[in-house]
Amino acid sequence: LIAFLLYLFYLVAPIGQLVEGAVQLQNGLAALRRIREIEDLPGEPVSLAAPVGSDPVGVRFEDVVFRYGDDRAPVHDGVSFEVPPGGLTALVGPSGAGKSTVFALIERFYEHQEGLITVGGRDIRDWPLGELRATLGYVEQDAPVLAGTLRENLLFAAPEATEEDLRRALTRTRLDDLVSRLPEGLETAVGHRGVLLSGGERQRVAIARALLRRPRLLLLDEATSQLDAVNELRLREVIAEVAAETTVLVIAHRLSTVTNADRIVVMESGGVRAVGTHEELVGGDDLYRELAATQFLVS
Ligand code: ADP
Ligand code: MG
Repeated sequence: LIAFLLYLFYLVAPIGQLVEGAVQLQNGLAALRRIREIEDLPGEPVSLAAPVGSDPVGVRFEDVVFRYGDDRAPVHDGVSFEVPPGGLTALVGPSGAGKSTVFALIERFYEHQEGLITVGGRDIRDWPLGELRATLGYVEQDAPVLAGTLRENLLFAAPEATEEDLRRALTRTRLDDLVSRLPEGLETAVGHRGVLLSGGERQRVAIARALLRRPRLLLLDEATSQLDAVNELRLREVIAEVAAETTVLVIAHRLSTVTNADRIVVMESGGVRAVGTHEELVGGDDLYRELAATQFLVS
């Protein structure tokens, strides 16, 4: 339900705030109608604004303070870190540290109270909301597959994508194998009325869906469910390939993701505790070493 409300908020918020409202409203309503027709609610933000530019963008948090309510204790109490454009940055830390809240603030589902957040060097308060969200791709944790065909699942957020874009996204996410195995290829019904996809396949479908919108920054909340060795290897390859083209910020639950990361930001109780590579942190940070020993299997 919370995801649904966030989703509605997501669709409705830009309508009130932007002057290009008329078109967005129509698109938003069409999207809403589509949402009612599907069984599992999508968590990926849909923004029909085209991204401006295509170069990867970075993110910076500078002394960010954020509370979910005025009477609440801060969830972020002076969070600072930098994600340079391009490459793979992993966020790790115990449950409740504020990792998902980082994504919520970057998406502007909420406004931080103090400090500065920049995307592409620009204060996120100065970005038109539709443009900001068109710049971002978001893959939520344990992303659902919608009732419908695989093609519909991939294209619903990027209806203008070409057949070639689609092929490329399938190759990059190692889903071409799956497509060739399905009885009707891309036209095969998936979801609980169709062919059931594994957790690893669902996650790669969600990544492909996000890539079709050509994000300049991909926010990936890694699935917590176990992957078999083949799916884990594929995910690792896919993340590395995507990070070679755009900026990837991942909330990591898997050792194989963090050992590959260019840098890791370790969060603990609303602050950043350490930043470094896997080797640096294993040598230099007790909490990180502990998390690594348990394979980060925390929320
Ligand atoms: P993590 O992803 O690191 O586990 P979160 O960012 O999800 O941490 O949560 C940090 C803290 O903020 C937790 O104490 C959580 O209960 C609280 N929190 C998260 N989302 C909300 C929300 N929508 N409203 C109120 N509190 C929230
Ligand atoms: Mg979380």
